[in-house]
Amino acid sequence: MKQDFAANWQVQADEVITGVQAWRLAHPQATLKEIEQTIDQQLAALRAHMLADAAMASAVEAAQPVCPACGGAMEWRGTHRRCLVTQHDQAVVLERHYAVCPTCGVGLFPPG
Ligand SMILES: [Zn+2]
Repeated sequence: MKQDFAANWQVQADEVITGVQAWRLAHPQATLKEIEQTIDQQLAALRAHMLADAAMASAVEAAQPVCPACGGAMEWRGTHRRCLVTQHDQAVVLERHYAVCPTCGVGLFPPG
């Protein structure tokens, strides 16, 4: 991956840690199950961010695709937004590039 997501993820991870600590201080009587749910919830947001960033990195850096019909080089034509819901009901928005063959008009999305 060329994009440096590590700094972003580090900030979000720190927010998770701070959030869990603050919640724990505010809920000294919390049960193990409640603590577990809170940590899962906080981590789910971080997880969704990492998933979206990592998925987009591979889509952006995919090599220029070759037309499956004529074998010619395809051109990128804008993006297509895809919204997925992952574990713990976290929304993940993926922006995917759409490739079109200038010769025969075949279009395709990169895999993933
Ligand atoms: Zn073609």
